[in-house]
Amino acid sequence: MAQNNIDKIKDHAELFHQDEYQELFANKKQFEGGHSPEEVARIAEWTKTWEYREKNFSREALTVNPAKACQPLGAILAAVGFEGTLPFVHGSQGCVAYFRSHFTRHFKEPFSAVSSSMTEDAAVFGGLNNMIDGLATSYNLYKPKMIAVCTTCMAEVIGDDLQAFIKTSKEKGSLPEEFPVPYAHTPSFVGSHVLGYDNMMKGILSNLTAGKKKETTNGKINFIPGFETYIGNLREVKRLAELMGINYTLLGDNSEYLDSPNDGEYKMYQGGTTLEDAADSINAEATVALQSYASTKTREYITKEWQQKTVVSRPWGIRGTDEFLMKLSELTGQPIPRELEIERGRAVDALTDSQAWLHGKRIALYGDPDLVMGLLQFLLEVGAEPVHIVVSNSTPEFEAEAKALLESSPDGKNAKVWGGKDLWHMRSLLFTEPVDLLIGNSYGKYLWRDTHTPMVRIGYPIFDRHHLHRYSTIGYQGTINLLNWIVNTILDELDRNTIIPAKTDISYDLIR
Ligand code: SF4
Repeated sequence: MAQNNIDKIKDHAELFHQDEYQELFANKKQFEGGHSPEEVARIAEWTKTWEYREKNFSREALTVNPAKACQPLGAILAAVGFEGTLPFVHGSQGCVAYFRSHFTRHFKEPFSAVSSSMTEDAAVFGGLNNMIDGLATSYNLYKPKMIAVCTTCMAEVIGDDLQAFIKTSKEKGSLPEEFPVPYAHTPSFVGSHVLGYDNMMKGILSNLTAGKKKETTNGKINFIPGFETYIGNLREVKRLAELMGINYTLLGDNSEYLDSPNDGEYKMYQGGTTLEDAADSINAEATVALQSYASTKTREYITKEWQQKTVVSRPWGIRGTDEFLMKLSELTGQPIPRELEIERGRAVDALTDSQAWLHGKRIALYGDPDLVMGLLQFLLEVGAEPVHIVVSNSTPEFEAEAKALLESSPDGKNAKVWGGKDLWHMRSLLFTEPVDLLIGNSYGKYLWRDTHTPMVRIGYPIFDRHHLHRYSTIGYQGTINLLNWIVNTILDELDRNTIIPAKTDISYDLIR
């Protein structure tokens, strides 16, 4: 009997096509009071027009489907790059459940983060008691080496003071005095996950390096990846540094945590930059950030407080990777090895093979500022033409940098940077000024469905395709990955458009 029931279990994609559900949906409609299908179709058509686009772009008080998340999400990604670190979010449970599930859906890995579970009473009287109890429970139950505290909107609205709360918690015996509890205020009503990452990275480094400055440097280079969701990129940075013989510290390395081996045993803390190495990062020769807007405050802090040289270098595309390696060579005196020259040659060869399919292709893209800058570097290099660039978490600095890059190439002349706009704006852009390709995260699948613009998934989050986050988008190998995803999407679309027998299939070719 039980066996029979198991056999009847259906995936929801099949389940809801069954007669009983179809009948139920039809019956439900008569109580919904909706418009007629003709009226719905008429309005749907109207939303594709220039008239609607103008109304859409004049909206001020409403955001629809922004391509960004909130500060604490970025903060906890920074935290899990460090050995034995438990992210602790001071605020309500629901927010933290959302952060955990967001990362789990992207990385397909468990993600541990706790909250101080603030509810109505804490919202009225302040969350100090939640912090005292929460830190004690976290310390005793989960046995971390460090607890990194950030905040949700609720704690920020009532003005809870993390420094004072952590100090009081230690005085009340929640955890030992010397136990590291870095913190960052991460109000979600300003900035985005990118700023949250930056705030937490600064908080962790300032906590761990306090009093650790030495007379001489340790000869190392620090790398700060930024809000990096491609595990392959973290591994690529390490591989490039090792090939060049560079002694480095990756701040922080969450590659093992977010891509842990399945060996039958759950470990809450996997890998990560050791707290000793992170503490010694103050004595490095220089810090190289691979993202600019995810490290602005951290770099300011390092330059001012550590008196250390900082550099931003995004190794996207051939030129970006060349500049990155040359900068490393300049900082360390290490030569660029022959192996990397050969890799470069292979990437250039691959670009040459595919360039004819990419040249002049009109592209729409959206994402975080640094990701978009990296993609623009790559697209301009292969002769593609960026047209619509939507960055919900834009800044004036990003817009100036993006415009300067676009103006440096004839292929950038038709591009417009839409700072602060969302994916509903992007929908209007795609209907009124169509493009050949859309690049962005999984949320773009609704634009793909509506506008039929071929789509390449690059960015964060990617919920609906598997394993893309394991690849790299940087370095010469990452350049080949980007090329692979983009050119083969164009070729898939070409096949789809030439598929009708005796009509369009004269161009349905075996060889492209
Ligand atoms: S925006 Fe505020 S309320 Fe919403 S998930 Fe982020 S921290 Fe929580």
